[in-house]
Amino acid sequence: MERSTRQAGTSLDDLYRILPSVSDLLLTDEARRSLQTSSRVAVVHAIRAALDRLREEILTGGHTAITLQERIAALPMTVSDALRQPFPFSLRSVLNATGVILHTNLGRAPLSTSALEHMVDIAGGYSNLELDLESGERGSRDVHVESLLLTLIGRLSGIADFDGTHRAILVNNCAAATFLALHALAAGREVLVSRGELVEIGGGFRIPEILKASGAILKEVGTTNRTRPADYENSISPDTALILRVHQSNFSMEGFVARPSAEELVAVGDRAQIAVFEDQGTGLLHSLEPYGIPREPTLIASLTAGCHLVAASGDKLLGGPQCGILVGRTALIDQIRRSPLFRTFRVDKLVYAALEATLADYLSDSPQAIPIIRMLRVSSEEMKGRCRQVIAHLNVPGLSPDVVPVESVIGGGTAPKAQLPGFAISLRHPAIGPHDLLLALRRANPPIIARIKADLVLLDLRTIEPESDPLLIRVLNDQLLAAAASVEEVGG
Ligand SMILES: *Cc1c(COP(=O)(O)O)cnc(C)c1O
Repeated sequence: MERSTRQAGTSLDDLYRILPSVSDLLLTDEARRSLQTSSRVAVVHAIRAALDRLREEILTGGHTAITLQERIAALPMTVSDALRQPFPFSLRSVLNATGVILHTNLGRAPLSTSALEHMVDIAGGYSNLELDLESGERGSRDVHVESLLLTLIGRLSGIADFDGTHRAILVNNCAAATFLALHALAAGREVLVSRGELVEIGGGFRIPEILKASGAILKEVGTTNRTRPADYENSISPDTALILRVHQSNFSMEGFVARPSAEELVAVGDRAQIAVFEDQGTGLLHSLEPYGIPREPTLIASLTAGCHLVAASGDKLLGGPQCGILVGRTALIDQIRRSPLFRTFRVDKLVYAALEATLADYLSDSPQAIPIIRMLRVSSEEMKGRCRQVIAHLNVPGLSPDVVPVESVIGGGTAPKAQLPGFAISLRHPAIGPHDLLLALRRANPPIIARIKADLVLLDLRTIEPESDPLLIRVLNDQLLAAAASVEEVGG
């Protein structure tokens, strides 16, 4: 037995004492090399794990002083090997070659650099999340984005004294914002909704169901295709708490249709002293008309029209983190803040950090700092040039790549009819069918998410940042060469 071969006088404690410290190991050449490719936290974690394993082996009697010394000598290599095979994360970053800017399956809006930097800064330490630095008293987390939001909206809308008459709060997403507002303002009372707006937004968010779950009572108004201001007016009763207007985000109706404008609804609401709540959804601040997308309603327009309360997503056309934004008249927001459910929807400090920095990008007039804005405005010519560049660097025998015109959609349930013209790379390989090609791309590192159109695999570069083109080229070459080699092997 090993135990019996232990030298006389070598107790367990003696063996433990031979173990080097974490800081000793951090000074080895291998650790220094690892620190060039891995974070310090990861290197320290790997060292601790290796030392823990040795302690375990000592405890179970697996070592003499000599075998332990051998293992210790090998420790730096053990650690660098462990770092080379990191624990595979489930959540991975991918190259989005679908051209869908707000792809719900791919995490919607990527964040701006300043949002990322602010998140890292706040996440890595402590912050004044709920501390008033002046008084030293407990503060409220809502303040961190409220004044920026109100300043920005006030400036863009030109509404006088906007920040003196309105407030803003954040919750987890727009679905939560709508639910919470209905619950806090209308539970047990009636909410008027046009039959044309009893919609399903996607992912199980259906207006009638949300209304029911909130405790509010749905009162349907008008018809599926036509609803007039008078239909609302005639449905108002002493039990009416709110008029709800829902942005028909992911579909459009044509033909014999009528829908009151937000201004007309506000006029009805003001006459009856009933608040108009708009589920605006997209959070769009600036018109998309410069990019050729007409009539996509903005958050600013809802407020300029006089809507008393508006709900929007943070990670759609605003281009920020996932959250729900409620902006409205002070009395309404205060009533929502008093709901016990408000606490259950509260967001993390990282969301405040990311949204605050995103709003600062807008306020400093640099919306092009926001990735989705850059993707919306990228020109066809630029896309064509990049497609040609990437193709020139592809080096896979048999592969026939080409540059083809495409139309991309925005996605995320916004602007369903909008088509953004651009160019994509089409891929075809004689031995690999399009579905196998798509699969091979998904299995790459990082995975490339593409789409198939007319039997061709399309890589739409609108949703890939130009800085990532070299990475795209390398991954395409490696992965497609490997895929081609494996079909050859099977075939030959
Ligand atoms: C997208 C959308 C929602 C849901 O927003 P999430 O942030 O995904 O919860 C609600 N209402 C409208 C009108 C939307 O467009």
